[in-house]
Amino acid sequence: MTYWFVVDRIIFIVDPGDPDFLESLDPRDYDECRILLTHAHFDHIYGVPELLRKFEKVSIFTNEDGAETLCSAKKNLSKYQGEPIEINREEMDFLFVDHCDFIYKSPSIRAIFTPGHHPSCITWMIDGECFFTGDSYIPGIPVVTNLPGGRKELARKWENRLKELSEGLSIYPGHKV
Ligand SMILES: [Zn+2]
Repeated sequence: MTYWFVVDRIIFIVDPGDPDFLESLDPRDYDECRILLTHAHFDHIYGVPELLRKFEKVSIFTNEDGAETLCSAKKNLSKYQGEPIEINREEMDFLFVDHCDFIYKSPSIRAIFTPGHHPSCITWMIDGECFFTGDSYIPGIPVVTNLPGGRKELARKWENRLKELSEGLSIYPGHKV
């Protein structure tokens, strides 16, 4: 799932995995594009090359694992999907975040590291009430932990934590249930 919202003419895109949707965007409507990555598996990043082509200023919020994975078709698993995505690290403007960092004030956008599905997993919390959980918590679907970098115990811990944190609030998971 690709989500997006606009603040002060900045378009924030959570997981640009859907190139068709991204194609419909008109870059003249925005001053810049910021990508919030919930993790760097192929199905969450397919649209990154399209965004790089389209926008003059694109930055991407992730951690070191996310950058490494994004830039390797083997690690992001696109190599095995018939459409390898190889992104040149030099081409990307990475903005590295730490666990619990705020990357925007109003609305407040916070990075919560939620590894277990993959070491690059970050849940993005908006104003303490919206959660973009990627594949770390998809209500009704158990977290996948059998891909490279997956860790069952950690995944369970963060799945439970996210369940608690988001109770009664809005969850936007990485896949439709
Ligand atoms: Zn995934």
